[in-house]
Amino acid sequence: MGPEVIIGLGSNQGDREANLKSGMERLARLSQIDKVSSIYETQAWGGGDQPDFLNMVCLISPNFDDPHELLKALKQIEVDLGRDLEDQPNSPRPLDLDILFWGAKVINSDDLIVPHPHIEQRRFVLEPLAEIAPDFRHPLLELTVKEMLAQCADEGKVLKMH
Ligand code: AMP
Repeated sequence: MGPEVIIGLGSNQGDREANLKSGMERLARLSQIDKVSSIYETQAWGGGDQPDFLNMVCLISPNFDDPHELLKALKQIEVDLGRDLEDQPNSPRPLDLDILFWGAKVINSDDLIVPHPHIEQRRFVLEPLAEIAPDFRHPLLELTVKEMLAQCADEGKVLKMH
């Protein structure tokens, strides 16, 4: 069995639900999709007056051994779905794809940080994650998803849709 690779998807521009669906279809061409969470409507994290997101997470078995290869493929999907490469860090986007975890691997390169930073502070990640991988352990914090969720102080809206 390969590592448990977990991807986060978010959309807060255009037809958000259709964007997530297209993202999942494209992801399914690159990897086996093992588990998929529900979709949640969530307040843009860190405030600002961005529109609400739809977020979900999925557990995959990628066809690559190299996380950077997957990152490149994810960025291509974002661009194909209309993402402006010049956009600002907190601007609305049709689709955002993040590598949240690559098993217990820790990566700190210029363009890729794994585990994705601040997972433990983000209820919009932890809630869907708790559906599909409650006992997965954060390799740096050494806490399970369930434990991180129980300790999370984030009070932003995270509403389960379906
Ligand atoms: P964002 O605007 O949040 O989508 O950030 C995009 C940039 O974050 C990309 O250009 C990536 O190179 C970088 N990045 C760093 N770590 C990760 C990660 N774990 N997953 C996805 N993108 C990452």
